[in-house]
Amino acid sequence: MTDLDRLRSATAAALPAWTGAAAPHLPEWRVAFTTDGSDAPTGIAPVCQDEDHDSGDGSVYTCCPDPAVEVECPELAEYLVALLNADRVAPEAAE
Ligand SMILES: [Zn+2]
Repeated sequence: MTDLDRLRSATAAALPAWTGAAAPHLPEWRVAFTTDGSDAPTGIAPVCQDEDHDSGDGSVYTCCPDPAVEVECPELAEYLVALLNADRVAPEAAE
């Protein structure tokens, strides 16, 4: 098992307690406005499943699952979301 596989498994085990996503699937991520006053989303957060939270609204509210992570760079936020969403199925499920 590579370091990446080990870290992916550990995250898959830890995140459902925060996000409510059911194993073996990791949560779907989105870019999010995690700081005030930015022109573009500079953070990432799990997609919110609340029916009153419009999917096009990048803000983070009390309805949203944790963790919302500020990364300070819109391009990095987009990249991390793409990476995390490409890797959503835990390794045990993919084997
Ligand atoms: Zn929400």
